[in-house]
Amino acid sequence: MHILLSNDDGYNAPGLMALQEAIAHIAQVTIVAPDRNRSGASNSLTLHRPVRCHRMAEHVYATDGTPTDCVHIALTALLEQPPDMVVSGVNAGANLGDDVIYSGTVAAAMEGRFLGLPAMAVSLASHTPTHFATAARVAQTLVRRLQTEPLPADTILNVNVPDRPWEQLQGYAASRLSRRHRTAPVIADHDPRGLPIYWIGPVANMEEADPGTDSHAVNHGLVSITPVHVDLTRYEALDRIAGWLA
Ligand code: MN
Repeated sequence: MHILLSNDDGYNAPGLMALQEAIAHIAQVTIVAPDRNRSGASNSLTLHRPVRCHRMAEHVYATDGTPTDCVHIALTALLEQPPDMVVSGVNAGANLGDDVIYSGTVAAAMEGRFLGLPAMAVSLASHTPTHFATAARVAQTLVRRLQTEPLPADTILNVNVPDRPWEQLQGYAASRLSRRHRTAPVIADHDPRGLPIYWIGPVANMEEADPGTDSHAVNHGLVSITPVHVDLTRYEALDRIAGWLA
């Protein structure tokens, strides 16, 4: 098995190192990841300049593009043989609920799925992420499972792992995405030349963490696994829109 690893925290982030160590036990590993922190990059592609790719070590590449660029370039140009799977992470921080819309970690997995491969995003749910090895071991377990039980087409797994030692995990839960409060206002200030600047602050707390949600699972020490697909169509509203048009 050959697995492509990527992330949005940068090619030398501790979560990616832990993931590499765990997955290397069960597969050949290639890393193609951003050369810096690109958290919040979502599914953006770099279109208005070329993307540079540097070989940092054997089977480790860093690009000056986004996470989506990295996976796209790896699968369409860099790798001689297509890998069997794409695993993104381990992100330093949760990707719960509405986070998946902004997440570069999830986007890297999505790009793998768009290009036809099984894919999973793994995040360590903590503001002070510590136990990356726990999340990497979860990823290793799930890779083995995906090998024998493939997901439906167009589906990726969004996995969030509580930040604690492996022995203290309470189990696994299949979860739906939760919802956040409206995010906090941006910080408005002025630069040294008196021009206005704006700095987007941290995300808001979870508005909803009911049983069955990813937030609820992680809050109770469970590994949350959410199957995610990309079709954003609100099918229930199609008839209503058709009614307007009539
Ligand atoms: Mn990140």
